[in-house]
Amino acid sequence: MLRIAIVGGGTAGAASALFLARAGHQVTLFERVAQPTAVGAGILLQPTGMHVLAALGLLDTILEHGARNDRLFGTTAGGRTVLDVHYRHHDPQSFGLGLHRGALFSVLWQAVQIAGIAVRSATDITRIQQSGGKTLLFSRDPAPGSVEAAAGEFDCAVIADGTRSQLRAALAIPQKVTPYPWGALWALVPDDGLTQGGLRQWFRHAHQMLGLMPTGFAYKQMERPILSLFWSLRADRLQHWQEQGLEAWKKSVLELAPVATVLQHIQSPEQLTFARYADVQMRHWHDARVVCIGDCAHATSPQLGQGANLALVDAMTLAACFAEAPVVEQALALYSQRRRTHLRYYQGASKLLTPFFQSDSRIASTLRDIALGPLCGMPIARQQMAMTLSGSKTGWLFGKLRQPK
Ligand SMILES: Cc1cc2nc3c(=O)[nH]c(=O)nc-3n(C[C@H](O)[C@H](O)[C@H](O)COP(=O)(O)OP(=O)(O)OC[C@H]3O[C@@H](n4cnc5c(N)ncnc54)[C@H](O)[C@@H]3O)c2cc1C
Repeated sequence: MLRIAIVGGGTAGAASALFLARAGHQVTLFERVAQPTAVGAGILLQPTGMHVLAALGLLDTILEHGARNDRLFGTTAGGRTVLDVHYRHHDPQSFGLGLHRGALFSVLWQAVQIAGIAVRSATDITRIQQSGGKTLLFSRDPAPGSVEAAAGEFDCAVIADGTRSQLRAALAIPQKVTPYPWGALWALVPDDGLTQGGLRQWFRHAHQMLGLMPTGFAYKQMERPILSLFWSLRADRLQHWQEQGLEAWKKSVLELAPVATVLQHIQSPEQLTFARYADVQMRHWHDARVVCIGDCAHATSPQLGQGANLALVDAMTLAACFAEAPVVEQALALYSQRRRTHLRYYQGASKLLTPFFQSDSRIASTLRDIALGPLCGMPIARQQMAMTLSGSKTGWLFGKLRQPK
């Protein structure tokens, strides 16, 4: 049995706490927020992520809260098909699940509580020190003016503190963090059934994108289905968007897509939240007795809808590595080795695709509009696209993720 510290109670941290506690380790989960609550937009849970939740015994509850998305369908403002990917082209049984991020968070946290895992909330981990085979954590109360104090001694630490990790940079791992110039405004609105069965997108070149995704239900609020709305926006244009006002924005949206019934639910700009992304690249993810997982280790743009899924696969793989390798350092090195092909593929694919969907490049959007629609109709290409979307590719030509049982 190992004493394992996990920093961050998001998807990656909570899921790995559950797997590691179940394997008999003594887990302490540190979370900066005093009372973590269910916040955020809709995420697309892929078959890979659902496999992990099934292993945790949580999939039935998750399915109750989600909305089945069988297809990703995108057109230009003029109606030309840009993207038409069906999950069934990868596997007849598979589908994506539109899910409120808060529902995923709440289901995981409830399971953490039921499992009796030690949680130290309102604890901001500021530093991790490794010496003599020990891993020491230091923390600070988030209240202003508080001083750093020892948070405990462990056999190893799992860093799952998200894209803006403040612990990653101190590790002896070559790494690069690049903020994206683009982000997205998102809102949750009542789902009146406009986009039955799938995620719908409309594009004007690569500088405008509206996305609508059936998202299921907020946690335990099963009477009112919800829809996630995403509007692509370059970060340095946010102020202009604010100055323009809501009516001007609605006008540009309606010029792109016939979604008046959706827009009637948005009455004030405060209903839209701006999210920014960053690209995190690390040569590997372990440094002796410390390992990075989730967005902290490999955040990408959300184009491929993989963030939460990669985090869930990380958590399950990490527990499998601890079960296989008796020495902590070996288990964490094995983890980096096991995750390499899957993470490299999705980081590469996200990086390659993003300029075709979020940029000012007319060349990229013209190429996309000419080539991608016809490719979606070709059997091999559409099968590869569906496999990419479902989260199970580990290489550009061959390679399929083998998930632990
Ligand atoms: C608008 C938007 C849309 C998205 N859409 C999708 C999608 O369609 N599909 C998908 O799979 N993913 C999507 N994602 C990404 C997905 O939500 C994340 O990839 C996923 O939740 C990864 O979780 P994580 O646990 O690594 O990080 P996070 O969820 O960021 O969790 C990190 C946690 O660490 C805590 N923390 C941070 N620093 C410290 C510290 N020093 N000490 C203690 N605690 C700390 C934070 O409070 C937080 O609770 C989207 C994200 C956004 C913003």
